[in-house]
Amino acid sequence: MSVNTASLFCNLVRMPSPSGKELNVAKFIKAYLKKSGMDSYFDGSGKKVNSSSGNLILELNGTGPTVMFVSHIDTVETGDSRITPIIKGGKIISGGDTILGVDNKAAVAALISALVELKKDRNHSNIVAVFSVREENGVMGIKYLKPRRHIDYAFIIDGSMPVGTFMTKALGQTPFEIELNGKQVHSAWAEDGINAMKAAGIIISRKRLGRHHDGSYVNISGVKSDAQINIVPGRTSLLGEVRGFTDRSISMRFSEIEKASKEACRLTGSTYSIIKKRSEGAPPFNMRSNTGILDIAKKAANNSGVEFKTGEVKGTTEANMLSKSGYPVIIMSRGGSMPHSNSESIRIEELDKLKELIISISRCAK
Ligand SMILES: [Zn+2]
Repeated sequence: MSVNTASLFCNLVRMPSPSGKELNVAKFIKAYLKKSGMDSYFDGSGKKVNSSSGNLILELNGTGPTVMFVSHIDTVETGDSRITPIIKGGKIISGGDTILGVDNKAAVAALISALVELKKDRNHSNIVAVFSVREENGVMGIKYLKPRRHIDYAFIIDGSMPVGTFMTKALGQTPFEIELNGKQVHSAWAEDGINAMKAAGIIISRKRLGRHHDGSYVNISGVKSDAQINIVPGRTSLLGEVRGFTDRSISMRFSEIEKASKEACRLTGSTYSIIKKRSEGAPPFNMRSNTGILDIAKKAANNSGVEFKTGEVKGTTEANMLSKSGYPVIIMSRGGSMPHSNSESIRIEELDKLKELIISISRCAK
């Protein structure tokens, strides 16, 4: 028996699974796999990331190296209104007033279909399939993943580029706060005070914001001060974030922020400290080129008849977390269009291509 991936996808999107409330969908997947003769288990990450469910993990024996596929099961909807998928002209769309959930249930459906197919023989690598929680919001469940087996190659299935596109980089993100200290006085005694807001203004005007030549970004998003209007603020903070494809690029942006802060404080008499909130952000993902994972991706794409391409991601992804933990990892696109919107859709043909590509990777990696 082989799975009708489109109808499995429709069943999956009818079940709400906002971040943190994935248990119903996870149980459905577990039961579905069981029905096909495959036993899966939950890891203990649910408690750590404040979700009703941990990551659901399935191991399938084959030969040779172990390939891990990861597909998150949460979606961005609140779960308040039900999703009604509609099949129209070879395409699946939402009833109109909700998202569809292509991100990432298309990947979930394709992965399950592929597993059912792969289960039939051993002509494939060893496989670990992870149905992960909380990708869209909060601390990612994948951060706490501890597979029982050594993983040789990890494929994150996500993203709306065409199937066959593999992403080798994703921006890392470090939130920051620049704390500025002057001297607080009554506004009518301003000559005795130091207005910390002035330094904040100088930093904003001098530090280049937005995109930099190496694809990194600096954003300042907020100014924090609790002074009343009759107070010269003695303390203020600037809030923002730096994004970059490498640690080096992120630290270069921070040295520029440091320089602008130093200059602003020299001009105004304030002092500053920069707080980097690394644990609230994500490390950059930059695929190591010597792992062989790209060769497998290329060969598998050719074998399954999809056009092989590479790309990069501007958001932070599960690959950011996994590569930090030392896994040889790459992101493979799931397809579909207009994620996170009511116009989200996917062609049935794309679902089938994705399934074939997963199967092909498992065969090529052997
Ligand atoms: Zn996603």
